Amino acid sequence: MENEREVKNGYDVTELKSFAKELQKRNKNVESAIEEFLIKMGSFFDVDIIVVKEKTENGAAIKCTYEWSRKNHILLRGLERRFLDNTWDAWMTRYREGNGCYRFYKGEVCPIILIQQRETESLIQIPVFATNELVMCIDFVDSDRVRDWLAEEAAMKEISAFLYEEFFIKRAPRRDAEVLKRKLDRDALTKLFKIDRFTKKVNDSISGDDSGKYTYAIVSSDVANFKYINEKYGYNTGDLILKKMASTLFLKMKGIVSCCREYSDIFLTAVRCDKDTTDKELKKLVDDCNNSFLDEIRSITEDTSIAINSGFAFVGDHGITVEEAITGATAARKAAKDMALYNTSRCCAYESGMIANKARTAELVSNCDRALANHEFEVYFQPKVLCSTYRIVGAEALIRWRKSDGTFVYPDEFIPAFESNGCIRKTDFFVYEYVFKLLRERLDQKLPVIPISMNVSRIHLFNNQFVEYVGGLLEKYNVPVELLEFELTESICLEELPSAVNTLQWLRQKNIKISIDDFGSGYSSLEVLTRLPINVLKLDKVFMKKDLSNNDKIIISSIVEMARLLGLDVICEGVEEDAQRIFLIEACCEKLQGFIYSRPVPVYEFSKMLEKEFGYA
Ligand code: C2E
Ligand code: CA
Ligand code: CA
Repeated sequence: MENEREVKNGYDVTELKSFAKELQKRNKNVESAIEEFLIKMGSFFDVDIIVVKEKTENGAAIKCTYEWSRKNHILLRGLERRFLDNTWDAWMTRYREGNGCYRFYKGEVCPIILIQQRETESLIQIPVFATNELVMCIDFVDSDRVRDWLAEEAAMKEISAFLYEEFFIKRAPRRDAEVLKRKLDRDALTKLFKIDRFTKKVNDSISGDDSGKYTYAIVSSDVANFKYINEKYGYNTGDLILKKMASTLFLKMKGIVSCCREYSDIFLTAVRCDKDTTDKELKKLVDDCNNSFLDEIRSITEDTSIAINSGFAFVGDHGITVEEAITGATAARKAAKDMALYNTSRCCAYESGMIANKARTAELVSNCDRALANHEFEVYFQPKVLCSTYRIVGAEALIRWRKSDGTFVYPDEFIPAFESNGCIRKTDFFVYEYVFKLLRERLDQKLPVIPISMNVSRIHLFNNQFVEYVGGLLEKYNVPVELLEFELTESICLEELPSAVNTLQWLRQKNIKISIDDFGSGYSSLEVLTRLPINVLKLDKVFMKKDLSNNDKIIISSIVEMARLLGLDVICEGVEEDAQRIFLIEACCEKLQGFIYSRPVPVYEFSKMLEKEFGYA
């Protein structure tokens, strides 16, 4: 006995495995073989209690099915506990945070109720997954020693999975029919559900949840250029990556309800999130999962050019069904492909219009030339003002499309359509020329002028046309460069970094100001931006919530503070309320742009504003 309690070094489980084989040979009864095996494991790992918990057939509860105790105290066997509302999530979170298992030391609050009744000094809980579903877990308990389990962990994981494969599966002839059904429902490679079963499961989960506390979303993901991976590394590696993708989605995606391989390298995941989860929060979750998958891929291929594309759509938003959310998430994933980001996660939220409006996109695009010829595009201006005095310090040029029937098409609708086929170049150049011409005319007429910023679409970074066109305008209109500014969104700058750098450097050489638009809507850091020649930071509208919480305020103030330290000018967009303006003054953000002062206005109104503010020269 004394000998058996000796700590094993290295924990080579070969001995345990051969013991299992022996047991199988001499023992016809699987149940008693399991009992005997637990005793052996108890002394092998020098623990005091081992408890096996399995999911019940219907998956609604966990049941304590086997138990061994050094002191022969059987307390829990047969005990069944229904899953509480979020138990599954809680378990998965525990395993995720614990690197695939869960550890507990006395003194902490132990969330495992079944174990609270025990004398437990230290515990490690090892989950067992079959076909990517949690099927059981094994608790190893030491009642009188604090243990970190580091030496045992790997061996425990190995032997727990082995125990399941060797004994537990064999134990249940009652499951034969189920196994066959499973095979038909599942993808042979990844063992994940096929799409029909997935859709059914997600629908069932949603209709079975009347708590009102959650919302559900579908995430569609694929590996960018998977074909290239297959070609470069061979199909075995390709398969391995697909299997890894399946298991990573399962283990790392918080709140996962189900997962399937739609086809090829395309996976669908359904997640359950808190009711008010925002696009941004879900994006973060998906990005985190994708990035840990990329770590795995890198350990297989050492390739750093791979990216994961994901798109998601919430079920129930505007009555969207699960099937529609799958289509939406797929469209969003395709949109994500356009982000030229490498070695990271690319993730987009579904936006209305991504699918519905393929026809609409085609219609808008086909009308672009005619609308230009008919002078249907106009340039509106939105003033930028000092927070403290509302003095006008600049303006942003924003395009408007007023159709011949007088109705407007808004930029949020037509700009993405135009970007998708290159029309945007024509409309942007139209805006630029309009602005240059206006400034020239006002200068010639000795009317007051202020710096005007223009938006730069990502498409301009792919070739030289932007540089050539703007260079041409500079010559033609001879506008002082200090009156000009170009706004690039945060995402363009980061994703198209190499191409952006050329364009930005050209602007810098010309002494034209560059601002980063929508800062904070993505995940860039100021540190990255400092590598680019930027002058102005435009804080995105998302920061201007109705009621700014203390945390919001801390974040905004720190960004402003850092930007100022880096020598950047800061302006905040989307300011609508006085409380926001007052806070900005406190945070030392000098400028704002927003409805609080003025909406974007047509040129004649804008001129009146300038004249009112500055008088005539
Ligand atoms: P953006 O560059 O972020 O422009 C600011 C948007 O915020 C404008 O929307 C403006 O009307 C809106 N806005 C300003 N103040 C407030 C406020 O206080 N509250 C709220 N809720 N919104 C405010 P708009 O004009 O509809 O333009 C939408 C987007 O379309 C622009 O976002 C920009 O990305 C794009 N866009 C507009 N004009 C052009 C253009 O000429 N070229 C390109 N490439 N993109 C353009
Ligand atoms: Ca802008
Ligand atoms: Ca903006």
